[in-house]
Amino acid sequence: AAMREVRVKRTKTVCTYCGVGCSFDVWTKDRHILKVEPGEGAANNISTCVKGKFGWDYVNHEDRLQQPLIREGDAFRPASWEEALALIGKRLGGIKAEHGPDALGFISSSKCTNEENYLMQKLARAVVGTNNVDNCSRYCQSPATQGLFRTVGYGGDSGSISDIASAAMVVVIGSNTTESHPVLSTRVKRAHKLNGQKLIVADLRRHEMADRADIFIQPSPGTDLVWLSAVTKYIFDNGLAKMDFIERWVNKVEEYRKSLEPFTMEYAAKITGLSVETLTRVAEEIAAAESVCILWAMGVTQHCGGSDTSTAISNLLLATGNYMRTGTGAYPLRGHNNVQGASDFGCMPIYFPGYEKVTDDEVRHRYEQAWGVKLSSSKGLDNHEMVRAIEDGKLKGIYLFGEDMFSADSNANYVGAQFAKLDFFVVQDIFFSETCRYADVVLPASPSLEKEGTFVNTERRIQRLYEVLEPLGESRPDWRIVQDIANSLGAKWNYTHPADVMHEAASLAPMFAGVTYDRLAGYKTLQWPVAIDGTDQPLLYTEKFNFPDGKANFYPLEWIAPCEEIDQEYDIHLNNGRLLEHFHEGNMTYRVKGIHEETPNRFLEVSPELAEERNLQTGQWVDVTSRYGELRVQVLVTDRVKGKQVFIPLNSPEKPVNLLTSHFTDRVTHTPAYKETPVHMKILPWK
Ligand code: SF4
Repeated sequence: AAMREVRVKRTKTVCTYCGVGCSFDVWTKDRHILKVEPGEGAANNISTCVKGKFGWDYVNHEDRLQQPLIREGDAFRPASWEEALALIGKRLGGIKAEHGPDALGFISSSKCTNEENYLMQKLARAVVGTNNVDNCSRYCQSPATQGLFRTVGYGGDSGSISDIASAAMVVVIGSNTTESHPVLSTRVKRAHKLNGQKLIVADLRRHEMADRADIFIQPSPGTDLVWLSAVTKYIFDNGLAKMDFIERWVNKVEEYRKSLEPFTMEYAAKITGLSVETLTRVAEEIAAAESVCILWAMGVTQHCGGSDTSTAISNLLLATGNYMRTGTGAYPLRGHNNVQGASDFGCMPIYFPGYEKVTDDEVRHRYEQAWGVKLSSSKGLDNHEMVRAIEDGKLKGIYLFGEDMFSADSNANYVGAQFAKLDFFVVQDIFFSETCRYADVVLPASPSLEKEGTFVNTERRIQRLYEVLEPLGESRPDWRIVQDIANSLGAKWNYTHPADVMHEAASLAPMFAGVTYDRLAGYKTLQWPVAIDGTDQPLLYTEKFNFPDGKANFYPLEWIAPCEEIDQEYDIHLNNGRLLEHFHEGNMTYRVKGIHEETPNRFLEVSPELAEERNLQTGQWVDVTSRYGELRVQVLVTDRVKGKQVFIPLNSPEKPVNLLTSHFTDRVTHTPAYKETPVHMKILPWK
């Protein structure tokens, strides 16, 4: 028994499978994971979902990268860290010397820690001298952040997950919350069932949350901005707006009201396909509710108008006085565990950590002094622009970590063709992803269970994770590798622990002034902004909005139709999204045996109407073709989708769904319009 006690270890960590940020203890014996035990997590208390509970065996999978790999012709050979780092230093340094710092790009990951993201932007800015640094929130949540920057000032959730439960009404738009943010959805479901919370759901697809809703609407694809604006106009026109709140707290009222003029109920009905009666009911219910939280996700953001629709959501909240109180506000639901933190800690082409602009002389001088270098004052390229810059011959080298960008970016065939043109490409990951196929050097990283650091969840909550297992083989935590690469380029970094990195970030970014590892010890958490004395802010807006005059802004909008719509040739609208059991492209969860067995294959959801029209049955194979690529997939006939809309999970052990998606993006942030893909379907004969 004594022996056993010594070998069994219990370590606190934070889940990496979604932005809810559940924390729990992991019990291990050597490298064997015995169980996951939630206890006192600030976001989840005693709950987890199937991924958090059972999703960890991939850490011991035989496919784990355990040694650096160097390309030789069409193959890779194992190499020592020394050799790989020397080569990287030489080649990245060579590109900088020949073509200038802006010929290099740095792509970080919202799966990795705040400290790792901080170091990535420091590597790009201070060591290389470029602002070409971005992270994969570009593929999901940048439009939501934009909508909030425009209206209320901070790009974060207005309050805590527990506040959502206390709202009188929750409106969920473009979010399959039950499968994408499971533990958060149980809070809403409980409040709906037990406390009489009202629930309105808007989505293309009838998912579990939709089935529970008091009102469920299915507007035509890409038209959420229209119904949101029509509802807001109705609320103003009928004297239901909270004028006291607006007069005290919101600028640009007249300008905004004028922009609402086209959005009559009749116009909205025509564009969205919803009835005037339904739209009126939605408007009256929202106006009458004591307190409203609006939750949204990628069904809103992954459109050409994603930023504008996110802005329309915030406009509606302002018109109805639904900010500055518990149980009100805007809740973009962050997808990855650290979507919030990767951006918060500066992996964005225009922002230093804490959303201070690189173009602001005063801010830049602060960083120049601290880092002892001259910094670039021009905005860098985002992920989308980097891929275009390869095509234009301007970007020659990329260092990327923690992201299977070939599978995750849209129009994968195009992205792959560009990666193939790079002079030098370093990819750092835990498995040999599709993206690694294009690399010159592949570096073995350690997953979250093998490292320390912090994440920021969807409610701006900073939480610590501790090392559950030692790094496997020769793999290293990403923060160590970024430091190794910086030093291979001549820097003299000497961070011995992620705490050193956080200390530096807190000393430079006012948003994190009071963040220390002590204040985050164990299950302790802080919700940013954190004042120097350690006071944090669970409710984001209490005495002011984040603008110089302390007031919020209405933001006038117009509606622009989706970039691509169905036509005679491509006559079906393809939507995509998550499955409860799997995480993104599936590199991790398809390597967890139990989970893979549970949901082994991808499927294409087809409506009963379309199945009847095309004489299709569940199990039949079809070739789905868009203007950009093709996928073969098996049909599942279900009333979760309607009419000519089909749905495919984005998670798959097979070819990525992004072989089908287009090059169109949100007009403001360049987030791909993943949800706007016209396709046609060829039915294959039964085998
Ligand atoms: Fe992990 Fe999200 Fe599930 Fe919580 S709800 S256990 S954070 S995947």
